[in-house]
Amino acid sequence: MSNSSMTAHRPLIDSVSQSTLASLEKLYFADTRPWIVAFSGGKDSTAVLQLVVEMLLAVGDRATKPVLVLSSDTRVEAPNVAAYVTGALRKIDDAATTLRLPLCTQLVGPTAAESYWGKLIGKGYPPPSRWFRWCTSNMKIKPSRRAIDEITRRHGSVILLLGSRISESAQRGRTMQEREINSRGLNPHHEIPNALVATPIADWTTDDVWEYLVSNPCPWGGNHNFLVSLYRQAGGGECPVVFDLNTPSCGGSRFGCWTCTVVKEDKSLQGFIRSGEDHLQPLVVFRDWLIELRDKPGYRSDVKRNGNAGPGPFLPCARQEILDALLELERGMGMPLISDAELAYIQHQWSLEFDFQNQLAVEIAAKYGRRIAMPDVGKSAPSAEDDLLEQAALEAGINPDLLRQALDIRRTGFPSLDKWGAKTQFERAIGDLLDKAARQAEQTAPA
Ligand code: SF4
Repeated sequence: MSNSSMTAHRPLIDSVSQSTLASLEKLYFADTRPWIVAFSGGKDSTAVLQLVVEMLLAVGDRATKPVLVLSSDTRVEAPNVAAYVTGALRKIDDAATTLRLPLCTQLVGPTAAESYWGKLIGKGYPPPSRWFRWCTSNMKIKPSRRAIDEITRRHGSVILLLGSRISESAQRGRTMQEREINSRGLNPHHEIPNALVATPIADWTTDDVWEYLVSNPCPWGGNHNFLVSLYRQAGGGECPVVFDLNTPSCGGSRFGCWTCTVVKEDKSLQGFIRSGEDHLQPLVVFRDWLIELRDKPGYRSDVKRNGNAGPGPFLPCARQEILDALLELERGMGMPLISDAELAYIQHQWSLEFDFQNQLAVEIAAKYGRRIAMPDVGKSAPSAEDDLLEQAALEAGINPDLLRQALDIRRTGFPSLDKWGAKTQFERAIGDLLDKAARQAEQTAPA
């Protein structure tokens, strides 16, 4: 992204963005469905949001339809990225109030039961791997889907605006081109009922996105210099807001979780550290330690959850050691790494499994000055069906995210297999799903 190339392309990006703005305005007034802009803080979703705000400003008082900016925080995001996104959301909200725009933001996250520490330390799940990934659906998809479901319940249906681009990756480009698109450029979301998807910058190139961002003032104040610097520091691809498991793996992406054990090297954290954020180094060391524990003798049960021989959940002593080490890390870094609700959930889970005095997590937390309030597990417990599904996947040694996707195909695409040919088509769909999952897993460098 050189200055000279930016100047040369400026008229071109102006005309591209003007035409995108015109299409957005048409789409906005075409119906009464509220909009949800998926905002990860990355360049593509920032460009979409900026276009939406520019369009709302241009139409003035005629803009009355609500727009929600939806962002998700796994609670284990790289701390500098999490701080950037939270700050951006605050500025966007302030600007919306000042400019009287019908727009607000919402930051969603996993419940304690869905969280990384709830699963790993509370229930003893092994750190996620490319073949055994339980994190994306729990930490990203479910929280976003709850917010979307809430809006569709109130309004009947919604339009999701995504920053996906055809040129971003061959796989995503193919998927986008294969989708059935209506005359307004919308396609039904394949998993979320009553949600239509719009991809306003689908045809933009990466250069278009950067040129648009750096050559137009940011409507919620400031500029995008910090965003540019985040990208310069990190390597790899962008981590999108994930609504479904068809979105390419976020493991190994530019802005992923600092705990991500799905990839061999956390490129973003390493990039930030190389650029001078040395204080993040202990996070990398901790993550590498978690990977070691996955296969370390004496840390995991010799029996799987279904009673068969093989590596099972982390043993109680391992879970206690990890919690202790995490709180030590938190104290050393001087920043929160685990919430009170997660600590309470961990104690609750241990009490159910092995800590009949209800005290082990409380005592470990107290060593670090953390007090555990009695958990309100009723609120944070996942649905019984979802819990059963995850348990079944764990017992069978199947990737829980993959099993959920297969179930979705069965439910939405093939509610009945009695029709002629339905069984064959269903088998083909499952075969395609497995091929795709294997391709995705192979593309992810093993941790
Ligand atoms: S970044 Fe890694 S740990 Fe986080 S949700 Fe994605 S795959 Fe899981």
